[in-house]
Amino acid sequence: MDRPAGCTCRDISHLTDGIRAFKARHYGASPGLMRSLVEEGQAPATLMISCSDSRVDPALLSGADPGELFTVRNVANLVPPYQPGPSLHGTGAAIEYAVRDLMVDHIVVMGHAHCGGIKALIGSAEGKRMARDFINDWVELALDACRIHVGHADGADSRRPVSLELLKDNPFLVERAAIAGSIGNLLTYPWLKERVDAGTLQLHGWWFDLDTGDLWQTRPGETRLFPVL
Ligand SMILES: [Zn+2]
Repeated sequence: MDRPAGCTCRDISHLTDGIRAFKARHYGASPGLMRSLVEEGQAPATLMISCSDSRVDPALLSGADPGELFTVRNVANLVPPYQPGPSLHGTGAAIEYAVRDLMVDHIVVMGHAHCGGIKALIGSAEGKRMARDFINDWVELALDACRIHVGHADGADSRRPVSLELLKDNPFLVERAAIAGSIGNLLTYPWLKERVDAGTLQLHGWWFDLDTGDLWQTRPGETRLFPVL
């Protein structure tokens, strides 16, 4: 790949090599899947709402094929509450298309360990907002969820008192609480809740442990996360 003189940016030509390899496999050796996805359109069973973090690509982690996951990624895998209006609702638009048009059967909110967005949220809770234009207000979406869910975010039955020290020492509790908050906010979308109530749509929380590769999941109808055995 040609680079302008003096450019210090890292080379990414291996990524275009990767697309060539994808083409050789999915358009050359085994073209059936991509051909049917083009001719018949997409019909994914799952909307995946995951973090933008480069280490937790849901398709790579789950081994999903093209056409399996309709994905929206944002900082800290957050779902804003239902607030229609003239603002630019990127996450809401993706949720609406998946639920009302693609008619997905599942929505998975997938968070992860060592989440930078959640670290920023804990900083905000401490009154240490980052000198950034957008990040603070975005991650503070999860502040209420943190207050509500953090006490039992590790699967314990009893709630514990929530202190800033607890949050700073156990960011994974906040990461899991934010997942519970996003699931709660999904249910504020009326056409989504209708489908959940009708039994045609299931909501799931997943938390990926970046240290061990383990997955934690919610049980049906719950927002608490438990390790998958
Ligand atoms: Zn993250």
